[in-house]
Amino acid sequence: MGRHNMHPFRSHRRHGNGSVSPAIGRKISRQQRFFAPGLLVIAMLLAACGAPVSSRPNTPPAPATELVSAPTVHPTTAASIPADAITPQLPAVVTDYQGERVAIPSVERIVSLTGDMTEIIFALGMGDRVVGVDSSATYPPEAVQALPNIGYQRRLSAEGVLSLAPTLVIGDESAGPPEALAQIRVAGVPVALAADPPTLAAPGQKIRFVAQALGIAERGEILAAEVETAIAQAQAPPPDPAPRVLFLYLRGADVQQVAGANTPADVMITAAGGMNAATLMGIDDFKPLSAEVVIAVQPDVLLVLEKGLESVGGIDGLLRIPGLADTPAGRNRQVVAFDDLYFLGMGPRTGQALADLSAALRTLDRQGRP
Ligand code: ZN
Repeated sequence: MGRHNMHPFRSHRRHGNGSVSPAIGRKISRQQRFFAPGLLVIAMLLAACGAPVSSRPNTPPAPATELVSAPTVHPTTAASIPADAITPQLPAVVTDYQGERVAIPSVERIVSLTGDMTEIIFALGMGDRVVGVDSSATYPPEAVQALPNIGYQRRLSAEGVLSLAPTLVIGDESAGPPEALAQIRVAGVPVALAADPPTLAAPGQKIRFVAQALGIAERGEILAAEVETAIAQAQAPPPDPAPRVLFLYLRGADVQQVAGANTPADVMITAAGGMNAATLMGIDDFKPLSAEVVIAVQPDVLLVLEKGLESVGGIDGLLRIPGLADTPAGRNRQVVAFDDLYFLGMGPRTGQALADLSAALRTLDRQGRP
């Protein structure tokens, strides 16, 4: 997940033309918005970390009409250090998520298996060492689009990774299959996989892990502290009553799931002062969307990912999913959409994503709440 040009962080972009939905425009008044362009809809399941896994194919792209809130991104102190000022201390040693020590003699050529790790490497100023990324890498956009793509991190091909002649393969615990990882290790390439728990501690932990693996631990400490400060500042006491937020992971008609407890979406909703409507119903992890659940929980707002919203045909298509129209969220057309990696990536921009969600939850239309 996550996603550049020369500067590791970009500010807002506005895409395409189109009319802005007054409903959302009113709801998220202070946020930047843009229409998704003819966003190519990924042909494979998107790999936002923390997103559910499914073997179902994607449906074809729906017409791009959606209004979405664009991430606002602020440069960090750490990222503003010029890359040529970094001298990695090598060999580096890092302890992976299974407790194994991984020795890393060279960070000259890095293959990054997840979008969040890629975003962290760039935020640490080491993006020029990245020689391959996975299909969830979307930030920094220009940089990752120009790099060879190794596909989906859960279905790696050892040959594909090794063809890039990496000196380090870095990712998180969701990388696989194990046979491919073993083949890469047998070829003599260190594979460093971080833990990636659905908690607000994950961004700092992953940043420290990456920095340790790259031999730039001090720089990682600076960036991690900045991100942790941003996250702490973005957390807010809930409005009274707390809005009921239903997070939907959508890929057309084939994949329609709600996010319950123990998901990054739940962590973000709760920290922003919302009440996760799925968790209220006792749902854990990602579960199929059911009209009965939706009607029972009566969400005030539907929280979606941009590509997911696009895949169902925008807000109108979303509200045709059984049950959704007949809720406060549906009646008031209160839909908040974020970029996958920005919102679920648990990376350098998590504090900003949290602040965006918190702001959105404080401008909801509460009419129609029973
Ligand atoms: Zn991850």
